[in-house]
Amino acid sequence: MSTIRTKGTSPENKGSDNLLLQRNGPLTRDLLLAPGEFGLGRVPARLKPDQTTTVVCGFCSTGCGLNVHLKNGEAINLSPNTDYPVNLGMACPKGWEALAPLRASDRATTPLLRSSRGKLEPVDWDVALRTFCDRFKAIQAAHGKESVAFISTGQIVSEEMALLGALAKFGMGLLHGDGNTRQCMATSVVAYKESFGFDAPPYTYRDFEESDVVVLVGSNLCIAHPIMWERLLKNKNRPEIIVVDPRKTETATAATAHYALKPKSDLTLLYGVAHLLIQRGWIDEEFIRAHTVDFEEFKAHVEGFTPARVSEATGLSEAQLSTFAEKIHNGKRVSFWWTMGVNQSHEGVRVAQAIINLALMTGNIGRPGTGANSITGQCNAMGSRMFSNTTNLLGGHDFTKEEHRRKIAGILGIPEENIPTRNSLAYDQIIEGILKGKIKGLWIIATNPAHSWINQEDLHELLGRLDFLVVQDMYATTETAERAHLVLPAASWAEKEGTFINSERRIGLVKKVARAPGQALADFSIFQLIAQYWGCGDLFKEWKSPEAVFQILKRVSKGQPCDITGIEDYAMLDERGGVQWPYPEGATYESNERRLFEDGQFYRPDQKAKFAFQPPRPLPEPTDEQYPFTLLTGRGSSSQWHTQTRTKKSPVLQRLYPKEIYMEISPVDAKKLGITANEWVVVASRRAEIKARAFVTNSVQPGEVFIPMHYEVTNKLTFPSFDQYSRQPSYKACAVKVRREDDRG
Ligand code: SF4
Repeated sequence: MSTIRTKGTSPENKGSDNLLLQRNGPLTRDLLLAPGEFGLGRVPARLKPDQTTTVVCGFCSTGCGLNVHLKNGEAINLSPNTDYPVNLGMACPKGWEALAPLRASDRATTPLLRSSRGKLEPVDWDVALRTFCDRFKAIQAAHGKESVAFISTGQIVSEEMALLGALAKFGMGLLHGDGNTRQCMATSVVAYKESFGFDAPPYTYRDFEESDVVVLVGSNLCIAHPIMWERLLKNKNRPEIIVVDPRKTETATAATAHYALKPKSDLTLLYGVAHLLIQRGWIDEEFIRAHTVDFEEFKAHVEGFTPARVSEATGLSEAQLSTFAEKIHNGKRVSFWWTMGVNQSHEGVRVAQAIINLALMTGNIGRPGTGANSITGQCNAMGSRMFSNTTNLLGGHDFTKEEHRRKIAGILGIPEENIPTRNSLAYDQIIEGILKGKIKGLWIIATNPAHSWINQEDLHELLGRLDFLVVQDMYATTETAERAHLVLPAASWAEKEGTFINSERRIGLVKKVARAPGQALADFSIFQLIAQYWGCGDLFKEWKSPEAVFQILKRVSKGQPCDITGIEDYAMLDERGGVQWPYPEGATYESNERRLFEDGQFYRPDQKAKFAFQPPRPLPEPTDEQYPFTLLTGRGSSSQWHTQTRTKKSPVLQRLYPKEIYMEISPVDAKKLGITANEWVVVASRRAEIKARAFVTNSVQPGEVFIPMHYEVTNKLTFPSFDQYSRQPSYKACAVKVRREDDRG
């Protein structure tokens, strides 16, 4: 392994402005391999070599506490923490196998640069970092600073997100940077901001245990969030569990009521339920009057959503609609939950707000067991929402507001003019920017769009048009890394430290309990080095370590709804099993499980929640004679995570789900098409065709098919449409046709 030099390697990186040099001398192999903060080395000094310590899980947003057992400074095994307030001793298969992806044989262990022969070949960090800066700066010089963009992730710790966002926007002069959270949570963010005045999921997981009616819209909870489902099963009220989903999912099968509506008719259904509640006087007028605005307009809007109209649009009977409304009315503590079935929609924001409206009009918010509750996807999607500096200025501030820019510049000690005055393009607009020749350089961190992006083949072609593509990831074998000009090898979860924020706003601690392989570095260290090589290291003198950045994040949160100035340090997070925001200075909360809006005060200027609504819009790609099936996509099993970049590294997890891609089809349609169970079929959309095994099952209705999102080719089929407000892709419904493989198309 070669020595990694950090001095004098960039024209702008001379002498004393080198942060690492000032503090540590040259970043040599010896230093990298020593215990410490640079991503390599054994566990930090604060941990003993043979102890058990709690680390928050790095897969989903539930944020379970896992006890990692160390021997000789290396994590050898783990088990769920029985005292952690999130999971209470439980873990899903992914959690139990969380260490397996770290030990995979295809970890990226050295920077890789595409050579003149077209191959990715190993280089040392010095060459990699010089190339990174030289190529991106050359693109900026030729095409303007905005011609380089970044795509980040909900998978790295908040401190890394904040450093990346600050480095890119305040140091490198980039304007455009978005996260893969656009694919899962953008809809909820926009919905909450407009309805509540801030992106604020109001619940605590205890609400699952305290409801008497639980309404799940577009959420296959027991597969996507199995530990939340377990929390619900702990509910002693024998709650009514209502599932709204076109598919008879595992959750729907276990529910007390399942409303299998037509795909994407949810907005009409929710307006129809609101219509019935109002018509029957089953609303909380006092709450509406005291704590909301625009109810009268909403009431007029839903007047036309009669049972007959809603029944026609949704495929549910008028009796079912009536029973649904009755169940909500009969509940004393009704909680409404949603996730990707709502968010990944062409009108997801309005659907999310239709759910919020039901909670507001019935007074089901701010009390135990209630709430309009969006369940997040990735382990740190919530951190991204607060601190990634992509769509919001750090801490939920606004790039377009001068007072916010001045405040953040003052806190960070940077020139105010370094802060962009405009918002970034959204993810899809960055991709479109490549098409239009405006984005020439792209830096992708810990995400795999070549697999996950909607209408995938289009993206593959566009990635090939980039002058320079950098992928920073723990594997060099992802579909995206294989297309890169430069790969930067990154440490994994548990090979570095920092904080995640989970779905219930709990900030939990990730610790370094394993050593990153080869020359892989923590993303935090990579960002620090890029700052120096780029020549803007001076701006980040205070950003010395994740914990130092946590102190900065506390300061930027001051006075915001997500104020965390009362959290002292990492030790406090560790002792308490995480802390939910808000936790302002001087806070003396009795409970470590808190919900928002108990005082009926929301975050809008008038402190009232807003009823937001809009007429439903037609499906972007409806079925027709040529493409008669609606393709639904979603999570396949609780053993698979998104593009399977990590979960497919575990032989244990691999045994828990079908290896080959499959498509669920109803017995009625299978019979019509002559398809028998487990045979190969061809599924085609207007964009591509793929092969899948047929699962003949009643879980889907006639006219619908389902394919899990985890398989590499699923997104060749999906249709690129987006919610007009959140720019979130609508993965859930496009038109396809199906035939037996042996039949001619
Ligand atoms: Fe990890 Fe989520 Fe499973 Fe909990 S439910 S163990 S956070 S993947």
